[in-house]
Amino acid sequence: MDLFQMYVNNEKQKALVEKTAKLAEKVQKRVGMAEETASLPRENIEDLRKEKYFSLTLAESYGGKALSLYDFLLVQERLAAGDGATALSVGWHLGIIKELSEDHLWNHDVFDWFAKQVASDQVLVNRIASEAATGSPTRGGIPETKAVRDGDDYLLTGRKTFATMASVLDYYIISAYIEDKETVGSFLVSSNSPGVRVEKTWDTLGMRGTGSDDVIFDEVRVDQNLLVELSTGQTARKSAKGWLLHIPACYLGIAIAARNDAITFAKNFQPNSLHTPIAEVAHIQQKIGEMDLKLMQARSFMYQVATKWDEEPEKREQLGAELAAVKTIATNTANEVVDLAMRIVGGRGLSKEYRFEQYYRDVRAGLHNPPMDDMVIQLLAKRALAED
Ligand SMILES: Cc1cc2nc3c(=O)[nH]c(=O)nc-3n(C[C@H](O)[C@H](O)[C@H](O)COP(=O)(O)OP(=O)(O)OC[C@H]3O[C@@H](n4cnc5c(N)ncnc54)[C@H](O)[C@@H]3O)c2cc1C
Repeated sequence: MDLFQMYVNNEKQKALVEKTAKLAEKVQKRVGMAEETASLPRENIEDLRKEKYFSLTLAESYGGKALSLYDFLLVQERLAAGDGATALSVGWHLGIIKELSEDHLWNHDVFDWFAKQVASDQVLVNRIASEAATGSPTRGGIPETKAVRDGDDYLLTGRKTFATMASVLDYYIISAYIEDKETVGSFLVSSNSPGVRVEKTWDTLGMRGTGSDDVIFDEVRVDQNLLVELSTGQTARKSAKGWLLHIPACYLGIAIAARNDAITFAKNFQPNSLHTPIAEVAHIQQKIGEMDLKLMQARSFMYQVATKWDEEPEKREQLGAELAAVKTIATNTANEVVDLAMRIVGGRGLSKEYRFEQYYRDVRAGLHNPPMDDMVIQLLAKRALAED
């Protein structure tokens, strides 16, 4: 059974997954380089750019493919099986484009100008919101990055952490405290702006290939029209964010790759104490069955919530708890599945000769992407307690 085909329902999805499989093969070849340099290889960006991957979620009126949430998850899961770090990185970009295309948050002229660049030049963007003092922005801390009014412009000053793809992005969406408005908002900033600097700080256990370095803003001049979002009012982001499911899709893709590699190993490894490959041994079969059971539970939940998101747009705002639950279940499942895969393979799984140790390190990072487990559990508890 090809697990990547399991949730493919039509010819369009089949073609999308097959095309992504070829890209996954290409980016997989550069995993060693990404791991060594703790950065996202520019060659990966070029390969994806050539296939117009960065406009997959852009509205069709701009020449994008306007992928549904379900289709977006299918391709991201497939890409992640080749390289989780590449998938997580470009997943942020595609998610942002999806959110902006569908929710019409930005001033029309600014979005029009930006969307045309995504379509024609495949420019790459990411939200850079985390800071050392505030930690995860989902906790509600006020950014220490400040925007100070200067004529028709703002001057941005601050330091952002965890800036995925920092060195290869064309644009950053930067959160800041805006002094004259006494509120938090976000600016669209070109990565070439004078005063913007990337500091190579990313030296992590997992997801090394995301190159999530620090970005420093030193009185960066930004036109007031590029203040694209405020935390309240018309440009405020909606609370239920379906596109965030690119995170669970990514970690489940890594888990499927680990599961597939473990099964291949089990079918081919025959120690001289056995007359058959280890795939015939009961405890190995038990672990294989457990991996598939866990993947089936997490994936069917994720794709079911995505279907609901796509088919019932009027109910999206009520899906917040389900979306959050998918993330918690998927990232924990991915950790459990990779753990089982490594138990199947045994001590060899620790060797860099195989990919298991990297899968193991990469899925660990999923626990620290939003929303964090404690917030999800609390959200569910509050919802339950609010029932009459
Ligand atoms: C691979 C990867 C890619 C990322 N990419 C991006 C990106 O592109 N853009 C971006 O902006 N960010 C990005 N992030 C950052 C991410 O969103 C978080 O900001 C970051 O992981 C820190 O979150 P944290 O929960 O570990 O840390 P913190 O928020 O600093 O928390 C540290 C500890 O304190 C606890 N804690 C903190 N505040 C509270 C509170 N109010 N109540 C209860 N407990 C609290 C937490 O539970 C945790 O145990 C990325 C992270 C990773 C791992």
